[in-house]
Amino acid sequence: MKAVVTGGAGFIGSHLCDHLVAQGHEVVVLDDLSTGSMENLTQLEGTPGFTFVQGDILDRDLVRNLVEEADTVFHLAAAVGVYNIVDNPLKSLRINLQGTENVVEAAVANRVPYMVASTSEVYGKNDADGLKEDDDRIYGSPIKSRWSYAAAKGLDELVAYVHGVESGVPCVITRFFNVVGPRQTGQYGMVVPRFVDQALRGAPITVYGTGAQRRCFGSVFDVIPGLLRLMETPEAYNQAVNLGGHEEVSIKGLADRVVELTGSTSEIVYIDYEQAYGDGYEDMQRRYPDTSLAHRLIGYRPTRNLNDIINSIVAHRRAQDSVPQPA
Ligand code: UDP
Repeated sequence: MKAVVTGGAGFIGSHLCDHLVAQGHEVVVLDDLSTGSMENLTQLEGTPGFTFVQGDILDRDLVRNLVEEADTVFHLAAAVGVYNIVDNPLKSLRINLQGTENVVEAAVANRVPYMVASTSEVYGKNDADGLKEDDDRIYGSPIKSRWSYAAAKGLDELVAYVHGVESGVPCVITRFFNVVGPRQTGQYGMVVPRFVDQALRGAPITVYGTGAQRRCFGSVFDVIPGLLRLMETPEAYNQAVNLGGHEEVSIKGLADRVVELTGSTSEIVYIDYEQAYGDGYEDMQRRYPDTSLAHRLIGYRPTRNLNDIINSIVAHRRAQDSVPQPA
């Protein structure tokens, strides 16, 4: 099988490529290296059947040419990270709307099964205990750029879904809940690698708001096998499926845990949202996935707990020459 992976040089995309190559598939990565990095792919360079193409998903001809040769498409390219979205709202919208449309249209035109990566952000401010796939979205104001990622990803899901239904081409939408692991950078947001980097440098650990907000971090090592199985499961076609972890933690609790597991001397400091993200930022207070649909479809059960996840990131950082400085 030949797979095109958009965003394959990114954190989740590069782990997906590792799995696909290990399974003996040909892999073509399309990535503009805006937030992704060739370092994430060094282990695959020179592997027979692995190709890297530096390019933009807004380039329709390039996307079409790559997709028409493929047997399956995994679309993970996106403008991601809270800082990135808030700082570059127009560019982010373009990539997340037009880029996805280009990829989905190319897949459908060539009858190539496709997966579109989505996010728990599509639930917006809905903080129900165990968010289910058909729960309502509760967005903030349409003119707050903070919500542009959530709004664009919600439309991406519709584009993917409607094309899938109308064409009959297999389509899977994966909703990732705070997926973390080695290779993720804290440069654009992403609290776990940020806290780990701060702890390893002995720098203050920056908790935004009160730290009472809660998240459930999922391991990339649980999520990738899950998404690959979904693509092989016809009952999953034309569905949006939550994928994530099972252990919920407050952000203050996360900071404590990172300090404990790294043996760091860092102090924990509290920073206002305005100072962290600019005026009017609205945070989600809680985001916990109900993964029972994935369990029913493919027997999905996340096996990594929070300590496993933090330890895997710490080990990766320690193996690098220097600890990167978060923005
Ligand atoms: N956060 C934090 N300190 C940081 C970065 C993020 O306290 O240095 C908080 C952020 O405000 C949010 C949570 O950690 O409440 C998760 O942030 P992230 O950007 O990782 O993901 P989100 O769930 O917001 O998309």
